[in-house]
Amino acid sequence: MRNSEAIWDCVEAHAADLIGLSDRVWGTPETLYAEYRSCAEHNAMLRQKGFRVTENLAGIPTAVMGEAGTGGPIIAILGEYDALPGLSQVAGLAEPRELEAGGNGHGCGHNLLGSAALLAACALKDWLAATGTPGRVRYFGCPAEEGGAAKTFLVRDGAFDGVDAAITWHPNPVTRVDDPLSLANMRLDFTFTGRTSHAAMSPHLGRSALDAAELMSVGVNYLREHVPQDARLHYAYLDAGGSAPNVVQGRAKVRHLVRAMQLHDMLAIVERVKNVARGAALMTGTEVEIQVVSAVSNMLGNRVMETTMQAALEELGGVPFDAADRAYARAIQATLTREEIATPYKVIAMPPRFDEPLCDYVVPLYPHGEVLIGSTDVADVSWKVPLVQALVATHAIGSPGHSWQITAQGKSPAAHKGLVHAAKAMSRCAEKLLTTPGLLTEAQAEHRARLAATPYTCPLPAGITPPLQPRPAEI
Ligand SMILES: [Zn+2]
Repeated sequence: MRNSEAIWDCVEAHAADLIGLSDRVWGTPETLYAEYRSCAEHNAMLRQKGFRVTENLAGIPTAVMGEAGTGGPIIAILGEYDALPGLSQVAGLAEPRELEAGGNGHGCGHNLLGSAALLAACALKDWLAATGTPGRVRYFGCPAEEGGAAKTFLVRDGAFDGVDAAITWHPNPVTRVDDPLSLANMRLDFTFTGRTSHAAMSPHLGRSALDAAELMSVGVNYLREHVPQDARLHYAYLDAGGSAPNVVQGRAKVRHLVRAMQLHDMLAIVERVKNVARGAALMTGTEVEIQVVSAVSNMLGNRVMETTMQAALEELGGVPFDAADRAYARAIQATLTREEIATPYKVIAMPPRFDEPLCDYVVPLYPHGEVLIGSTDVADVSWKVPLVQALVATHAIGSPGHSWQITAQGKSPAAHKGLVHAAKAMSRCAEKLLTTPGLLTEAQAEHRARLAATPYTCPLPAGITPPLQPRPAEI
């Protein structure tokens, strides 16, 4: 028997329990530091499986950590379980239909993400005990990936201290090792305060906060031309000052999101955006208050970790989808444009296959395709320890990232197969790090060399705390 088969047997032994966890978390979609039910489910599963549990990790009540094993290196497996607002959807359909009007939904597949990560941790726990290998596994249940950057706070507050390497994954249209590319970002709220007045009789007495917010938008839109090409500037009005046009708006609040490929570029652009806001306030005779909401870094790669994960994925092969999985995926693809279906192929530099709705192969490492990148708080962990992220096929190729289609497919047999597959890849990668002489040391040496070239600066301003939500009375 190969080693890989032993650890994969450990995965299979817990698979049904963790698929059940994933489906339950799918059914309680919670967002942004309100993941009390989802976290409680993960906490209960960790205890049921015999982990030593730390609740309220770094003071965040919806973060949890479970540890198993003794001595040796510590491998972290990162999970998530937060959902997205407005993506409620009935499971198993191939047409949009809300399960709850205006409700949340697992439109990024984090129900699968957390459960597969915990499944990998269960397998490693058993394997460590069965083989007597010195080493520990820590499962990190991380909340608020979508818009909350919880991992940045967890890194800042020492939750990953002592960890030797970290492994994670994300549901995806195709199976591959993620390119170590993500955009650093910062969310900031700009609150303008002016003076209300009658808009017809005494406009000269008013100072419009809405004018200030709009002038800020104009300034930021002009700024776009003069920032690095990979930078992104987005904004959304949180409060336009009311609905009465005959009142000079005395307050307005707008949230800006600044992204760039490098952390230092992002921080420099943020300072320029702040100056645009100050200029808008000066022009309108209003005051502006600036509040940072969250921030993440760009991802730091690690070739040793990426090569190790690629080897684990190649041993496994593709996710074993069947004809029924393909039939449902084909029905989902019928709701997509050809451009949407072609997009994942551009990323992996392959010609699109419109006749194949699911990925049952492993993409070669570093495909050098078109770069389409977002941001993730996993990036801040990558500056703390050597980290790799696998991407495993769980849904129809072309399903948009945050969409009803992903929510709909989140409890499908194909998604369950992807979940188990991801756990096998992660646990095998961890096993290789623990048993291949010199491998972990090599990964850590690479990490140190990269940090020596570009030191890490926590992107969060001093003193900022996560926007925690109150615990519901019934939990
Ligand atoms: Zn996600």
